[in-house]
Amino acid sequence: MAIATADPATGHVEKTFDAMSEQEIDRALDRAATAFRAYRRTSFADRERWMNAAAELLDARADHIAAIMTTEMGKTLKAARAEAHKCAAALRYYAAHAEGFLADREADAPAVGARRAFVRYEPLGPVLAVMPWNFPLWQVIRFAAPSLMAGNVGLLKHASNVPQTALFLEDLFLRAGFPEGVFQTLLVESSAVDRIVRDPRVRAATLTGSERAGRAVASAAADEVKPAVLELGGSDPFIVMPSADVERAAGVAAVSRCLNNGQSCISAKRFIVAEDVADEFQEAFVAEMSAQRVGDPRDPETDVGPLVDEKARAGVEALVADAVERGATVLCGGTRPDGPGWYYPPTVVADVTPDMRMFHEEVFAPVASLFRVADADAAIDLANATGFGLGSNVWTGDAAERDRFVRELEAGQVFVNGMTTSYPELPFGGVKRSGYGRELSDPGIHAFCNAKTVWIG
Ligand code: NDP
Repeated sequence: MAIATADPATGHVEKTFDAMSEQEIDRALDRAATAFRAYRRTSFADRERWMNAAAELLDARADHIAAIMTTEMGKTLKAARAEAHKCAAALRYYAAHAEGFLADREADAPAVGARRAFVRYEPLGPVLAVMPWNFPLWQVIRFAAPSLMAGNVGLLKHASNVPQTALFLEDLFLRAGFPEGVFQTLLVESSAVDRIVRDPRVRAATLTGSERAGRAVASAAADEVKPAVLELGGSDPFIVMPSADVERAAGVAAVSRCLNNGQSCISAKRFIVAEDVADEFQEAFVAEMSAQRVGDPRDPETDVGPLVDEKARAGVEALVADAVERGATVLCGGTRPDGPGWYYPPTVVADVTPDMRMFHEEVFAPVASLFRVADADAAIDLANATGFGLGSNVWTGDAAERDRFVRELEAGQVFVNGMTTSYPELPFGGVKRSGYGRELSDPGIHAFCNAKTVWIG
């Protein structure tokens, strides 16, 4: 894919960029390796100061970067601003907590015949991050804040359609005071990634994106015996039981499905509703989905902007057509609007069955599958009948039922009576084909550390 900014609201290519040459990539990897040797010796106090400075700068430049994000991938301007401020908060979180997370962990010295024994967390070196366009700041900050606080250096291969956001990030960390080479953006196409993962100067990799890209990067990393974290797709269930506040659940359901124009890995995608409240939920949910305002992402009244590109829209149209052909019912939406831009309306599809692609695939657009089930057993079976295992949502007022869902849902996170969201304070990641490893909170910083055992006799 060419490296370019193309506005999804118009389809217009705004700016193109040349990919780095082999020699430029080589020089960047050298800079990273050299920077790491000095950077790993910097104090937590210095890193904390630079990280907090990055947060200040990001807050101050939120409008600037928000406009770039909206132009590059079509999220609403208000969502883009919120993303920038959320990132600033995550930078501050790791500035404040990294030293505590990475403090030496004392072990029982007499038990191992030592005067002292402990675990020390040390950085690994240059980490390659292959990142997607959907939350073009947040996905990167989630990796960069803990990695840099731990003393690693970052190499960002961002998605080809968000080059200006990628360059902004490199500039942000430099301006904040981080030494040259500690965070670099590599403007490269995906075909260059394999050789970068395999380069001995790169010590680990992290990827957020599709299963296909995840397999490619993780295979190369495994082949070179390098650690990797994968955050892949999701097809999160959203279960509504009879004891739930159905009206509230329906409102949150629509917000979750339409989040980021329907392009979030932790959007609820499969709505599984107990028969007793299914009519009530369906009516409220379809009303909420239909009420979402689709339009110009720069208009403050807009809830849902365009999809990222023409291919994404053609892809979702094919999924809906496949379902309809096999007997599904479209309750609202389902037809693209006329005019420029890659718009697709909030859509609810009922009567979805396992012979339809939509049953199994991640739908990266504001399209919901609606299912009716008899009871909690059937809800759990259906929720787990997917290759994915990222997030999950349950709405219930019954404590015993809640505990059962928490135990039995195959997912990296379960949110009860609320919307799945990522917070710096909580680990984030999946099971099954949604990936492995964890980002955020303390596991997110330990992921790229050498937990070095120290035994002193
Ligand atoms: P991709 O997985 O293709 O892109 C994510 C990142 O991986 C980009 O930087 C991309 O670079 C890179 N990449 C792609 N292929 C390879 C490869 N073979 N080797 C190394 N790196 C690679 O996501 P798409 O944007 O194409 O989206 C496709 C689907 O992925 C979506 O429909 C959705 O299901 C899922 N997705 C999930 C996300 C999540 O948050 N979990 C985020 C985005 C997508 P380049 O842009 O240059 O191709």
